[in-house]
Amino acid sequence: MTPLALEPITAAGLLITDTCPARCRHCYVVAGPDRTGWMTAQAAAAHFAALARLGVRAEGIHVGGGEPFGDFERLLAIVRAARSAGLGGVGYVETNGGWATSEALARERLATLAEAGMRQLAISADPYHQEFVPPERVQLLHAVAREVLGRGGVRARRWKWLHEARDVAAMPETARLDLFRTFLQRYPERMAGRAAEQLSELVPRRPVEELPAEGCRRALLQSRHVHIDPGGWVYAGTCAGIVFGCATGDRPLDELLGRWRPEDSPLLALLAEGGPRRLLDAAARHGFTPAPGGYADKCHLCWSVRKHLVRAGAGDATLQPPEIYLS
Ligand code: SF4
Repeated sequence: MTPLALEPITAAGLLITDTCPARCRHCYVVAGPDRTGWMTAQAAAAHFAALARLGVRAEGIHVGGGEPFGDFERLLAIVRAARSAGLGGVGYVETNGGWATSEALARERLATLAEAGMRQLAISADPYHQEFVPPERVQLLHAVAREVLGRGGVRARRWKWLHEARDVAAMPETARLDLFRTFLQRYPERMAGRAAEQLSELVPRRPVEELPAEGCRRALLQSRHVHIDPGGWVYAGTCAGIVFGCATGDRPLDELLGRWRPEDSPLLALLAEGGPRRLLDAAARHGFTPAPGGYADKCHLCWSVRKHLVRAGAGDATLQPPEIYLS
């Protein structure tokens, strides 16, 4: 088998906060009102400088959360820091749009961010967000963004839902679950983080032995992008909670990634080689037994095993930050 190696990155997301007024059922970083982490503008500037040294271009960089508009002055300082680092701005900033309470506020904030170097606004719109964010706010934000930033300056995930969005908060729980079930058939979610806890019951499950047995080398080492959380933890691709390490002033992102070796992260290496089924023996020694009802996908199994290991005090430096597993 080819030795494990981390491919050079071409994209990165700065998750500048894990706090969010919403607590969406599909959130793989487990953001919510009870989380309080924020990245400082100084730390973001250091990450941008490292990304510039790695040759990552502005269009490969995004800023998200949590909800980054929860501290607009900080968000603005962070977008400006990308330019100061020589990146020419950031590709896009993600938001759930809940802050867009008036046309004037949306217009002013978008114009200010665009001038600071934000190239595109990405609006999150789906039934999970609309349990917390009134649909008229995302629709207002989208309309204003098209005017201020132009057609190419805004995108929505999910575009079709944005136009048909319903106020999910006003629906009874049984109707919400029906809506989520239908939406999951149309747009499958990776069942990790809160999605594993709250949505996996809504999709068919398979026993462990029927889940794919291949390794996750592509997702962990070959996706060519990372996410950096408010505390500096560097997630492999979109696998939140599986890290290469913590990027700090003493050990900036480029140095951390450049020096990463599989032996530094035994659990990450096991996952890359054999996927979550490879963790089962180790997990069994710490009392893990597979769920009798099976799992929605291999990420669901992966999440369940990782959470069990951390809660049993048997995680390693790879499974960080603890809050993501304990909240
Ligand atoms: S199974 Fe785990 S390591 Fe593999 S892609 Fe899913 S979350 Fe990432």
